[in-house]
Amino acid sequence: MEYLEGLFGINVFNDSIMRQRLPRETYRVLHRTMDEGRRLDPQVASVVANAMKDWAIERGATHYTHWFQPLNSITAEKHDAFLSPVSGGKIIAEFSGQELIRGETDASSFPSGGLRSTFEARGYTAWDPTSYAFIKDRTLCIPTAYCSYGGEALDKKTPLLRSMEALSRQAVRILKLFGRTDATRVTPTVGPEQEYFLVDKELFDQRSDLIFAGRTLFGARPPKGQELGDHFFGTIKTRVQAFMTELNEELWKLGILAKTEHNEAAPAQHEMAPIYTIVNVACDHNQLTMEIMKRVARRHGLVCLLAEKPFAGINGSGKHNNWSMTTNTGYNLLEPGDSPHESAQFLLFLTAVIKAVDEYPDLLRASVASAGNDHRLGGFEAPPAIISIFLGDELTEILEALEAGSDYNGREKAEMTIGVHMLPKFPKDATDRNRTSPFAFTGNKFEFRSVGASDSIADANVVLNTIVAESLRQFADELESAADFRQALHDLIVRTIREHKRIIFNGNNYAPDWSEEAARRGLCRLDTTVDALPCYTAEKNIRLFETHQVFSRTELRSRRDIGLEAYSKMVNIEAETMLMMSHRQILPAVLRFIGSTAATVRDTSGAGMTLASGQSLLAELCRLCDQLSAATDALEQALSEKPAPQDPLLLAAYMKDTILPDMQVLREKADALEKRVDRSVWPFPTYDSLLFSI
Ligand code: ADP
Ligand code: MG
Repeated sequence: MEYLEGLFGINVFNDSIMRQRLPRETYRVLHRTMDEGRRLDPQVASVVANAMKDWAIERGATHYTHWFQPLNSITAEKHDAFLSPVSGGKIIAEFSGQELIRGETDASSFPSGGLRSTFEARGYTAWDPTSYAFIKDRTLCIPTAYCSYGGEALDKKTPLLRSMEALSRQAVRILKLFGRTDATRVTPTVGPEQEYFLVDKELFDQRSDLIFAGRTLFGARPPKGQELGDHFFGTIKTRVQAFMTELNEELWKLGILAKTEHNEAAPAQHEMAPIYTIVNVACDHNQLTMEIMKRVARRHGLVCLLAEKPFAGINGSGKHNNWSMTTNTGYNLLEPGDSPHESAQFLLFLTAVIKAVDEYPDLLRASVASAGNDHRLGGFEAPPAIISIFLGDELTEILEALEAGSDYNGREKAEMTIGVHMLPKFPKDATDRNRTSPFAFTGNKFEFRSVGASDSIADANVVLNTIVAESLRQFADELESAADFRQALHDLIVRTIREHKRIIFNGNNYAPDWSEEAARRGLCRLDTTVDALPCYTAEKNIRLFETHQVFSRTELRSRRDIGLEAYSKMVNIEAETMLMMSHRQILPAVLRFIGSTAATVRDTSGAGMTLASGQSLLAELCRLCDQLSAATDALEQALSEKPAPQDPLLLAAYMKDTILPDMQVLREKADALEKRVDRSVWPFPTYDSLLFSI
C-alpha cells in the first residue's frame, strides 16, 4: 500500500501539491474557482503558474503544453520550452500566468467543419482549472479548452463544460424544491470502462489492415472463437499481466484511478475500469488511458487495438459510460434513498432520465456514431443501434404500480404515493444482469454501453448532460409554479412514466423479435453513422442545445459535417488498404499456389496417374481467384466513381451504400481462398495466430 501511495499522482499538480506550494490565499481563490467553475483572476494565475513551473522542473520537465482535444477524438499538444533568454547569453526558466490560462495555436490542420476559415487559422486554448495539470514525457500538460476567435468551440471539452453547467443549473432548481438549499452545484460523474485487444507486435507489423485501419479487413474464422467462454474473467497470461501491471503504474502516476482489470469475452480482449470522477476529468483521463495503453503495449512487444471491431466473428470493444449526478454536498441523485422524501426525489431524477432518453434517442445514437462503431452496434454482442432503457423488473414494477395507482406487488401494502411512501428496497445486484441493453440502470447510476472503444466519451456525455438538463428544466418550470408541491410532483412523475414507458425494455436486446417490437413501439432506429449524424441538425435538437447554451446552430452543423467526413475518410482508407493487400499480397500468393498446384497435377498426369483431388482443388482455386480479381476490380472502379467531397452527406452515403458492400464481397472471396491455400504461402498472419499467440 505504501508503494501505491508513493506512486499515486506523483506526476500531477493536484490538490495536496497546491496546498503545499501555493500561498494560502492563492490556494483558497484557486479552489473557489475550481469549485464554482469560475474564471481565474490573472494575478492568481501568475502565482499558480510560477509554482507549477518550479514543481514541474523539479520533476524533470523542460517544456509545457496546452493539452486539448480537437474534434478528431484524439488529443493534441504543441510543446514549448520553459526557457527565456536573458542578457549575457543566458536563459532563465519562465512560465507566466498568461501562458497558463491562455494559449494561441495555429491549428489550421485540425477539423473545424467550416468554423474557422483559413485566413483566421488561429484558435486559442484556455485552461480548465477543474482538471489538474500533469507531467508526461518531460512536459507539463495543462488541460485546456480550444475555441476559435469568434468563441466557437473547436474541441470536445468546451461543450462538455457547457453541458455540465446546464445540468447543474437545472438540477439545483429541482433540489431547491425539495428543500435542499445547501446543494449549490450538481456535477455529472462518470466511470468509463475501457475494452481493448492486445496482439503481438511482430504479427501486427505484417498486416497492412491493422497498421492503416486498426482492424482486420480480411481473415477467415479460426476453428475456435469465443464460444467456450473460457476467456472472460479467465486467468490472465503472464505477458498480459506484465502489461497490465505497468499500465496501472503509469496511470496511477497520472492520478488516474485504474481500479479493475480483467479478460473480456473475446480471445485477446481485456478491460480496465477506473473509479468514477467528475465527467470532464473522466474524459481527460480516458484520453490519457488510451494513449498510455498503446504506449505501454509497445514496451511489451504488443500492440493495443482500440478499434471497435478489430476481428469479425468475435466481440468488439466499447466503453461502458457509467453516469450519475452528484451534489457538491456529496449526494448521488440516482441513489434510491432511505426516506420517503429521498424516494420521491430519486423518482423525479429517474423519470427525468427516462423522459430524456425517450425524447432524444437520436442524439444518443449520433453521439456514438463512427465508421468503426457501426460494425459493432447491432452485431449480436454489443448494444444494438436501437436505444432503449433497462430498469430491471423490480424498479419497472414500482413504476407500473405508481402509474396504475395500485399496490406495489404486495411488497408494499399501502397504495404507493410519492412523497409519502418509501421505495421498497431492491437488491442492487438484481438490476445489473442485463448485458444486452444499451442503456441500463445499475443500482445508483446509468450505464450507456454504446460508446465506441476508440471514441472520446465527451460527445456521449454532452448529450446525456444536456438532455437530462432539458427534462429537469421542464420539471422545474412545472413544479415551481405548482400550488401543492406534493400533488404536482406525484402527477408529474405518473404522467412522465405514462408518456415515456415505451422506452423501457428489460428483455433480450439481441433477440430478433426485439427490433419488431421496437418498431411497434415507434422507437427510433438508426443503424449507421450516415443515418445518425444528420440528427445533430434536426430543428428540435438545435433548439435543445441552443436553449442550454451548449452548441450553437453552426457548431452543430460543423459536428455533423466533421463526423461524416471522418466516416468517409475512414472507409476510403479501408478500401484502399484492401486494394493494396489484394493486388500486392493476396492475388500474387494465390497465383503462385495455383502455379505449384498446376505443376503437381501436370507432373502426376505425366507420370501416368490421375490426381482427382489435385484437379478439383485447382479448379476451385481458379474459380475463387477469378472472383477475387473481379471483386478487386469492382471495388477499384467504385472508388474511382465516388462523388466529390463538397457534400459530406452525399459522399458518406455513397461510401456506406456502395463501397462497404463491395469491400464485403472482396473480403468473402479472400477469406474463402485463405481456407484453401497452403498456410505457408498465405501472405500475412491469420486470425488463429493473431488471437491465440500471446
Ligand atoms: P460492473 O459494471 O463491472 O458491475 P461497477 O458497477 O462496480 O462494475 O462499476 C462500473 C463502473 O461504474 C466503475 O468505473 C465505477 O467507478 C463506476 N461507477 C460507480 N458508481 C458511479 C457513479 N455514482 N457515477 C458514475 N460512475 C459510477
Ligand atoms: Mg459495468
